[in-house]
Amino acid sequence: MTKLAVVTGGNTGIGRHLAVAFAKAGHAVAFSYKLDETASASLVSEIEAIGARALGLECDAGRSAEVNAFFDAAERWHGSAPDVLVNNAGIQTWSSLLDLAEEDWDRVIATNLKGTFLNTQAAARRMVAAGKGGAIVNIGSGCNKLAFPKLVDYTASKGGIEQLTKVSAAELGPHGIRVNCVAPGAILNERTLQEAPDYAASWGRITPLRRAGTAEDIAGPVLFFASEAAGFVTGQTLWVDGGVFTQANWPQDA
Ligand code: NDP
Repeated sequence: MTKLAVVTGGNTGIGRHLAVAFAKAGHAVAFSYKLDETASASLVSEIEAIGARALGLECDAGRSAEVNAFFDAAERWHGSAPDVLVNNAGIQTWSSLLDLAEEDWDRVIATNLKGTFLNTQAAARRMVAAGKGGAIVNIGSGCNKLAFPKLVDYTASKGGIEQLTKVSAAELGPHGIRVNCVAPGAILNERTLQEAPDYAASWGRITPLRRAGTAEDIAGPVLFFASEAAGFVTGQTLWVDGGVFTQANWPQDA
């Protein structure tokens, strides 16, 4: 039977590319989004054009009632529990710690960290009930391990995802569910280009592989973690960052 891959925040950027990549790899794909119905409809058409099935549903990743309704609908639509979940939905706000608004902290933690928890719980409950195991891939960031100024809420959420990945792997392993994390470096997409017009050049300069990444760079590692090739791998974070967050901060010219 065709496997079901669920991607949160599939409308744009990395999530959209992952949804298409899973479809090309032979999965049916259900994805959630929060705002843009038009983008969702265009992604469904794009996936159907390559001969796969797709379901896009409005669902705030950080609200449990919506997440449970999303997974119920996806399960009904596909006819069985999900085989793969990618926790991709994530947002950023920019502020110093001294100025950060409480509502921004709440929004970022709710989407990124609580959203990863809620979607993991909803998917894993259904995988356990179906008794077929599964794979969960969390999308982290360099913030999983490094402190990024003016991204205190985002950094805290991704640091939480690092640990959530490990404890999820430990608890879900006996059910045959593997949980890993892909932590991207600087990835050029519409959002990051809007943030900084020289995004690719400025990150390329300080990245050992001398370029910014693309959503395509993220798809391979995510598909690997979701596949049987990673059948004995769980609780791990893979840095997909061209080396930028592995090198030391070193007082000499590159
Ligand atoms: P985008 O902003 O392009 O995509 C985020 C998607 O999430 C949007 O499609 C948005 O859709 C959806 N979304 C936002 N809030 C919610 C919510 N509450 N519930 C469901 N969906 C939601 O971002 P990226 O592709 O750049 O980022 C994707 C992931 O990759 C994030 O987790 C991010 O932290 C991570 N990442 C990205 C990096 C980069 O350089 N781009 C680097 C490191 C990590 P809509 O607005 O229609 O709801």
